[in-house]
Amino acid sequence: MIHGKNILGFTVSAEGKQKHQTVNSRSGEILAGEFNEATLEEVEQALEKAQNAFELYSKVSGKTRATFLRAIAAQIEGMGEPLVERCMAETGLPEVRILGERKRTCFQLESFAKVLEEGSWVEARIDRGDATRAPVPKPEIRKMLRPMGPVVVFTASNFPLAYSTAGVDTAAALAAGCPVIVKNHAAHFGAGEIVGQAIQKAAQDCGMPDGVFSLLNGFGFEVGQALVKHPYTKAVGFTGSLQGGKALFDLAQSREEPIPVFAEMGSTNPIALLPKALATRPDSIAETLAGSITLGMGQFCTNPGLLVALAGEELDNFVDAFTKAFVASTPQTMLNTKIRESYERLNAQALEQTGVELLALSEKVADAASNEGRPTLARVMGKDFLANPALHQEVFGPFSLLICCSDKSEMKTVLESVHGQLTSSVMAEDDDVSAFQDCIDVLSRKAGRLIFNGVPTGVEVCAAMQHGGPFPATTDARFSSVGDDALKRFVRPLAYQGFPEELLPEELKAENPLEIWRLIDGGWSRDSF
Ligand code: NAP
Repeated sequence: MIHGKNILGFTVSAEGKQKHQTVNSRSGEILAGEFNEATLEEVEQALEKAQNAFELYSKVSGKTRATFLRAIAAQIEGMGEPLVERCMAETGLPEVRILGERKRTCFQLESFAKVLEEGSWVEARIDRGDATRAPVPKPEIRKMLRPMGPVVVFTASNFPLAYSTAGVDTAAALAAGCPVIVKNHAAHFGAGEIVGQAIQKAAQDCGMPDGVFSLLNGFGFEVGQALVKHPYTKAVGFTGSLQGGKALFDLAQSREEPIPVFAEMGSTNPIALLPKALATRPDSIAETLAGSITLGMGQFCTNPGLLVALAGEELDNFVDAFTKAFVASTPQTMLNTKIRESYERLNAQALEQTGVELLALSEKVADAASNEGRPTLARVMGKDFLANPALHQEVFGPFSLLICCSDKSEMKTVLESVHGQLTSSVMAEDDDVSAFQDCIDVLSRKAGRLIFNGVPTGVEVCAAMQHGGPFPATTDARFSSVGDDALKRFVRPLAYQGFPEELLPEELKAENPLEIWRLIDGGWSRDSF
């Protein structure tokens, strides 16, 4: 089933001499399949095809694109056990998680299909002209969102399906009307290719233009960087590390024609633990938090890495319950050796910092031979946290730092000191809310999603979701990389002035054949005129 070649539209290609393999995360055993590194000529071919495909694909109706997205979901489901097994082997994630992720990936595709079928997402605005207006006549102007052009997608190691080859960036760009070139993730080339084959088949079955989708293998950064630098590339979607996202963002801005890079990177997702809440329900907060920090071995961009609380009796009682819950957690296999080693290094570095003490470890010791990471909880006083930028960095894995603040003013200063975040949360009772309103206000300025009495792990795919936040959580806090709005990253507004009816897109025609919501002369309507 796995051929190891690069997918260039409807063809495959293996011109490169270099080949790579992937390994089983748990055992280290080399997995079947040799993956040909893409050459710069193949990068060129993929972009040529994408550019040609764009002329046709940008004019394909929303309803037909919806059919294409559903066909991709059906093909992914049809890949069955071999895809699930390959994902499990290449990431170390358990079957239940992969099955859930496959469901989510297909749901994302289905959600965008529904958005396209309804059609109003294009934000059509019509201001009718007035030839009699004085002193100058008012021109007729109609505006809507149009696709930007070929999009390059970089995928994440921690979601082999939902943020990978057919993940939310690819689904959003295809929904928006943009061809996509995916840089296959080196840690899961096999899973990436199986899904790539599913998209290729769906594109052919649905009569999409050749080049609407390509998948290139790259090990090291040459292929990815060539894709970003190519003049046909009009936008980039990225999920992964801060270093990777920032490097690609800088590269894109240094082009002769700078282009947007929508990078979703790391986050420490601070949680403010307010005193009444800790006093009222220490055990349930302890259980919930320990579960969230260790879920999926903490390998989530929404993992709660910083916990902020006031020193005192409430906190001491809570810490007893929290450490007990934490000790009971179990080490599990991490995504790959590189990520485990990085976790161990960053974990050890954090514990070496001034004032940091180890609070709890999982009782069971991690088995390095099975690539396991060990859940770790540490504590530091607010003043030491404020004095040390190293403690503000993310430790990717099941690590969390409890920051004990001497008073409310220090708590506010600590919250103000953290970087931009995907999420921030508050555990509170009613009395806490009035007493700590200013701290909650700080949290709302820091993050894209503010959570009340809940944990940030588990990102719902829905229209109201915001998965994005101020830098360094993402490179553009105005957008979301999850939910219906994710496709807005790959479009731009285009105004048509004085255009004859027959040359306008369906969405802007007077009779409103798609029956979408439009803002006509300042009022929302689905009427024709
Ligand atoms: P990553 O290392 O940033 O890689 C994501 C993708 O971008 C990969 O395909 C990678 O290429 C590519 N890439 C990275 N830097 C590049 C550069 N400078 N030029 C061109 N291409 C580049 O992210 P990851 O694989 O998801 O996770 C690895 C690290 O990210 C972890 O150690 C973790 O600490 C951190 N992290 C990840 C997340 C997340 O949500 N995924 C969140 C926080 C932190 P290759 O395929 O060749 O590697």
